Amino acid sequence: MIPLLIDGHLDLSMNAIDWNRDLTRPLEEIREREAGWNDKPDRGNALVSLEEMRRGRIGVCVATMIARYAFPGHPQPGWHSPEIAWSITRAQRAWYEVMEERGELQVLTTLDQLEVCAAAWLEEREESIGRSIGIVLSLEGADSILSWKHLERMVEDGLRAIGPAHYGPGVYAPGTGSEGGLTARGRELLTVMQRLSLTLDVTHLTDEAFWEALELFDGPVWASHNNVRRLVPYQRQLSDEQIKALAERDAVIGAVADAWMLVPGWERGVSLPHEHQVRLAHMADHIDAVCQLLGTTRHSVIGSDLDGGFGREQAPCDLESIAALQRLDEILAKRGYSEEDRRAIFYGNWMRCLRRALSVPVGS
Ligand SMILES: [Zn+2]
Repeated sequence: MIPLLIDGHLDLSMNAIDWNRDLTRPLEEIREREAGWNDKPDRGNALVSLEEMRRGRIGVCVATMIARYAFPGHPQPGWHSPEIAWSITRAQRAWYEVMEERGELQVLTTLDQLEVCAAAWLEEREESIGRSIGIVLSLEGADSILSWKHLERMVEDGLRAIGPAHYGPGVYAPGTGSEGGLTARGRELLTVMQRLSLTLDVTHLTDEAFWEALELFDGPVWASHNNVRRLVPYQRQLSDEQIKALAERDAVIGAVADAWMLVPGWERGVSLPHEHQVRLAHMADHIDAVCQLLGTTRHSVIGSDLDGGFGREQAPCDLESIAALQRLDEILAKRGYSEEDRRAIFYGNWMRCLRRALSVPVGS
């Protein structure tokens, strides 16, 4: 077992606030409490709890706040005003705070905090399994940013990265399933992010917005949860040109464990994991595709998204909880990846990017 796995994308506080899940409880209990509920597609099928994260030695992750603004006629569900969306992200931030008070999580805002947290997990002592999980805060979809003053407040509260887009039309950028470039406010957002030394997460950007953003933004970049378009053809995945452009910026690309991004032909809400025989090996295929294309393991990481609005019904059938991500180690080893390469994919590459995100004095 590799002593530290950094997961570059989990929506922990969305699960707490929007899904009403108590992630401090055992996974079985979280599932049982949702028996008979059908308000969300993944009810009763959760794959993530803090205990399971520790068991899989996910000692550091990029954890989001997320709240979409849906104007009348918006194709996606969402909050009916940007003010409500803002308030939801405040509630999500409040949950991270109480988890920190309980010693379950630690919001990492400085390089020192990151190093100490990662080193404790890397010591490989059994005791470190009970340790708090370090989280770097990111905002997925920027709709909830009411003004630059509000953004500054989020940054004071620990925000270190932003993905301007999510699904459908957005205030700052159109996301997955839509077309077009950044909005005027989106272009301004990149300037402000640069001033505040924030990292840009390009995940969910349309192709047009992706290229525009790379052109406009000089700061650190990553693609927290993105698979490979060559294997699963759709706009949500990255093209080879995009992967190469990200590598040129020394970014990382997080392999996602979401079934519809792992295999072609998956129909959300219809297909089932065992029918398609979706396995962790498919996740390794996406990791391998990035490594082979670039001729290096330097840009491959994990960004599982395993609590991003789906669960067992849309995940690899050989993954009973997030802890099973550790099995990628064996799968990659069998494909000839050295221990050094596997450690880079599990945590080393993310550490490089997180160090960059946390080493700049924010707001300077
Ligand atoms: Zn996402």
